[in-house]
Amino acid sequence: MLIVMEHGATAEQVSTVVRTIEEMGYQARAMPGKQRTAIGLVGNDGKVDASRLAGIAGVLEIIHVTQPYKQVSREWKSESTIVRLGGGLTIGGDEVVVMAGPCSVESEAQILQVAHAVRDAGAVILRGGAFKPRTSPYAFQGLGLKGLALLRKAREETGLLIVTEVMEPAAVDDVAAVADILQIGARNMQNYPLLRRVGRTKKPVMLKRGIAATISELLLSAEYVLAEGNDQVILCERGVRGFDPATRNVFDLTAIPVVHKLSHLPIIADPSHGTGLRDKVTPMARAAVAAGADGLIIEVHPQPERALSDGAQSLTPEQFTELMRQCRAIVEVIGRRVAEPAAV
Ligand code: PEP
Ligand code: MN
Repeated sequence: MLIVMEHGATAEQVSTVVRTIEEMGYQARAMPGKQRTAIGLVGNDGKVDASRLAGIAGVLEIIHVTQPYKQVSREWKSESTIVRLGGGLTIGGDEVVVMAGPCSVESEAQILQVAHAVRDAGAVILRGGAFKPRTSPYAFQGLGLKGLALLRKAREETGLLIVTEVMEPAAVDDVAAVADILQIGARNMQNYPLLRRVGRTKKPVMLKRGIAATISELLLSAEYVLAEGNDQVILCERGVRGFDPATRNVFDLTAIPVVHKLSHLPIIADPSHGTGLRDKVTPMARAAVAAGADGLIIEVHPQPERALSDGAQSLTPEQFTELMRQCRAIVEVIGRRVAEPAAV
C-alpha cells in the first residue's frame, strides 16, 4: 500500500503517517519525491484499515498495490479450481456445464415436466427456487420445504443434480439435504453470516454477483466462504444495475475474463437475469460461452406466460433446445465441450 501525500504536506504530517503505520504494526518507508512524498506500507497482511490513514491531514490518496482478497486470488493458487459434483461432473475444467429450469418451483407437474425437457435438451443440473427473494413481500415467495421435496423428486426421476437458493443461515441444513449446489442469490451476496454458514458446509456454493457489486466485492464475498474452509465456490455473473431501462440489468460479459485472470474460481453466466428479456437470453448465452464462461444457468418454463416469477425472461423448452444447439457449436470452436447428462 502506498500513501501519497499532498503537494504541500508538512514534515509533521508525513511523520504522523509514519507513526500511525508503525502503531498499526507495519513498517513505513517514506519516499520523498520532487512533487510530493509517498510512504510505502510494508508487510500488508490484508488487515490494514486504509481509512485510518486516509483520514490523516495531508494525505492525498491511498494506492492499493495488492488485492484485498487472498485465498480466492490466482496469486494464492495459480491452477484453476475444479468444483466436484456428484456423478463425476465438474465445473471449472474443460467442460461447460448447463443448469436450467424454472425461476420457481411451482407444482409437481411443472417441475417434473421442465426437468425432463431440460434434460432432453442437454442440461445436467436442474435449477428452481423453493425459497424466493422477491422484491415485493406480496409476490409469490416460493413453496419452501414443499418445493425442496419436489426438487428431490425431480432429481430421483431424471438424475439431474439440483441447484437451489438458500436465503438464511437457519435454512442451510434443510436446503443442503436436497441441493447439490447451494445458491446464494444476488441480494444475499453480502449476507456475511450466510456466507460464513455455507462456508462451514462441504457443499459446493454458487455465489451470484450482487445487484450493484463490483468484481472485487464479489471476490471478497467468495473469500468469506473459502476462509471458513469451503473452496468449492462457483461465481455467477447475473448482470448489475445500470441506468438504461432497455434491459433488466447490464449483463457484464467482461466480468468473465476479468474473474478468470484475478481468481482461480470458476465463473458461470446467467443471461436470464442478466437481460430480463426472453429474446436476449440466447444471444447473450452464446456470447458468455464464447467469453469463456464455465457454465450457464438458464430459466426455462413449460408455459412462460403463466410463470409465477420471471416469466418474461424464461425460455420455452423449444427455445432452450435451440440455445443448447447453438452454444454447443461455439463451445467446440473454443476447444471445450458441453457436459452431457449421465445415462439414468
Ligand atoms: C434467481 O436465480 O431466480 C434469482 C433470484 O437470481 P438473482 O439472485 O441473481 O436475482
Ligand atoms: Mn428468477
